[in-house]
Amino acid sequence: MKKLAAGNWKMNGTGADLAEVRALIAARPEPDCDMLLCPPATLIARMAEVARGSALRVGGQDCHAAASGAHTGDISAAMLRDAGASHVILGHSERRADHGETDDQVRAKAQAAIGAGLVAVVCIGETEAERDAGRTLAVIGGQLDGSLPAGASAATLIVAYEPVWAIGTGRTPTLAEIAEVHAFLRSRLRGLIGAEAEGLRLLYGGSVKPSNAAGIFALPDVDGALVGGASLKAADFAAIVAAL
Ligand code: PEP
Repeated sequence: MKKLAAGNWKMNGTGADLAEVRALIAARPEPDCDMLLCPPATLIARMAEVARGSALRVGGQDCHAAASGAHTGDISAAMLRDAGASHVILGHSERRADHGETDDQVRAKAQAAIGAGLVAVVCIGETEAERDAGRTLAVIGGQLDGSLPAGASAATLIVAYEPVWAIGTGRTPTLAEIAEVHAFLRSRLRGLIGAEAEGLRLLYGGSVKPSNAAGIFALPDVDGALVGGASLKAADFAAIVAAL
């Protein structure tokens, strides 16, 4: 399967930052992996315009589970698609923490995203307290079971394992810990979606940077990365893309 380098710009970026996108496309015109950037909703259409005809795909960072209606400030999956998005990140730990998103809500959003023709990038991950308590696999197993939409396939779903304590902190699990979780997720996915699990991309996320990307990407069952801070600068993200 083709690996995926996905960038999450979070609440960063205005029109001026599209210069980084142009630089990224110029640096990696024909990457060996798939390349995705998820800017704030305000930039999706403009980034999609910059990316037109290139290998770069553009995604959203969240969507509402409903198709339309009285949900002030929210955005539907169809709206993301209309703006030029092909993917949407769902259930990021910052959404779960800041907005109280539950597995049920993430599942409903993923269902809506897939229904609208988007690829859902569903995020799961344990907190530091959960890891310290030896509950990592129980927590992420529960999140996976609860967040997965019915009928998910390798073509419509990507799962990102992002330990909450590794996001934006510069800390990462050991390579052995990442490998353990990804093997566990692959096995759990076999039980949930059968043979589709083999081709479903499992991303690692949490303080991925040019200096640690190659080691992480060499692990079995790591099919790419979801990158926060290091996706904001073309040079850093291009280096991560080159490591895949
Ligand atoms: C993220 O927010 O998805 C993330 C992995 O952030 P960072 O790479 O900055 O740790």
